[in-house]
Amino acid sequence: MKVAIIGGGAAGMSCAYLLDKKHEVSVFEKQPMLGGNIRTLNKNTSVENGKLEKGIFIDNGVIEFDRGNFDNFHKLMKDLNVELEEVPVSAGFHYANGKHIYTPSRINTIGLGPIQKMKEVVKLGKILYDYNSFMVKTGLKGEKAYHDKPFSYISKERVFFWWMRMILMYAYSIPYKDTNDIPIELGLSMQRSCLTYPTWSRVVGGTYTYIEKILENFEGKVRLKSAPKSVSRKNGGVEIVLESGEKESFDKVVFASPPHEVLQTLSDPTEEEKKRFHAWKENKAQTIIHTDTNLFTKRNVNYFCADLIQKKDGDAGYNAFLNNLSGIPESKVKYSLAFNLEDELDPEKIIHIQKHSTPFYSNEAFKYRNEVIETNGENNTYHAGAYLGNGLHEGAICSAMRVSELLEGKRLT
Ligand SMILES: Cc1cc2nc3c(=O)[nH]c(=O)nc-3n(C[C@H](O)[C@H](O)[C@H](O)COP(=O)(O)OP(=O)(O)OC[C@H]3O[C@@H](n4cnc5c(N)ncnc54)[C@H](O)[C@@H]3O)c2cc1C
Repeated sequence: MKVAIIGGGAAGMSCAYLLDKKHEVSVFEKQPMLGGNIRTLNKNTSVENGKLEKGIFIDNGVIEFDRGNFDNFHKLMKDLNVELEEVPVSAGFHYANGKHIYTPSRINTIGLGPIQKMKEVVKLGKILYDYNSFMVKTGLKGEKAYHDKPFSYISKERVFFWWMRMILMYAYSIPYKDTNDIPIELGLSMQRSCLTYPTWSRVVGGTYTYIEKILENFEGKVRLKSAPKSVSRKNGGVEIVLESGEKESFDKVVFASPPHEVLQTLSDPTEEEKKRFHAWKENKAQTIIHTDTNLFTKRNVNYFCADLIQKKDGDAGYNAFLNNLSGIPESKVKYSLAFNLEDELDPEKIIHIQKHSTPFYSNEAFKYRNEVIETNGENNTYHAGAYLGNGLHEGAICSAMRVSELLEGKRLT
């Protein structure tokens, strides 16, 4: 069969890999490069001359993958023979008043003396009541009990919940002020593991390395700078009209573009499709690679990794220290990725700015996630994307596996 995949991000390219050889696959990607939110500098994204040494691969987008919760992502990496390494993740939460609390993994791994360690444990103790009640309550009820509920349903004006909202901001690059409307089901498993000792992986050589592996033996077509003008379902198949006006027929179409793009591309949406996709909006986010460690020296902090920073006006941002998280070889330069901290960064120390587009995870839009999954294949139309799972790579790979199963493509074991 001829299968068109719209969108060459994680979900689209995983779908392309699983359907390749079984079907005649064409990937249509709007951007001049594949990867979507995977942006590996010096691979699928170039840096202004001289600002980043050659041979250093830094991710200004997707970086890390939870070993415990991303089972299918790890199966795909094994199938592709992609080398992974463990990421030493630990987090700090920095209040607007300059104080901080660390996760147990940070307290135990950064070589603090016994007195300092005790002080940090006491600080952590202040949120333990809320943390334990959150774990017991959500553990007993399970994710499904929170179906259709936004985070505001359980969130309170307390430090522990500010922290949990920052975790949502970190994971989904959604402005802090909007995190109370993120559906609980989306981020709960990640929130539940954040104060334990989660183990995370990264792709050696940067995340885009696995897309390169997919392309090595890919027999389908990839068309860059090629967003279809319209898609319609005709004569038992699918017709795609390109920007040039050229028409092409396919047997099946897979939408692996963000959900807010679906109704913009379909020229003949059914009432059901309109209902399922009408509420999705775009979230425009920006991440910055920089070398400014003043963010921490001015807070009297000398160890950083994944840090959530509260601002004086109640807003928040995050900083991910890449020498740790991306495994950048020993270097005098300290590279970081920052979100919503532009006002604190020295412009001279900015190496690269990346604009991202992600789904805006609101409770209203997320309501129809299961219905989209269950009706996959209706009208020869399929859907894939991280938004159909946990909003992260596991969601993207699972959604691609479901499409592959329906179209009898490759299965991952
Ligand atoms: C800054 C940042 C950091 C992140 N870090 C992590 C992380 O460390 N770990 C993790 O698991 N997840 C992370 N994520 C979440 C990440 O978005 C998902 O894991 C995953 O990469 C999403 O893949 P996707 O294919 O669903 O969507 P996308 O990556 O958005 O891919 C969609 C693709 O469709 C293309 N497209 C859009 N419209 C059209 C059109 N009309 N026609 C053709 N093509 C179109 C886009 O250009 C894009 O290439 C991060 C996200 C961001 C923004």
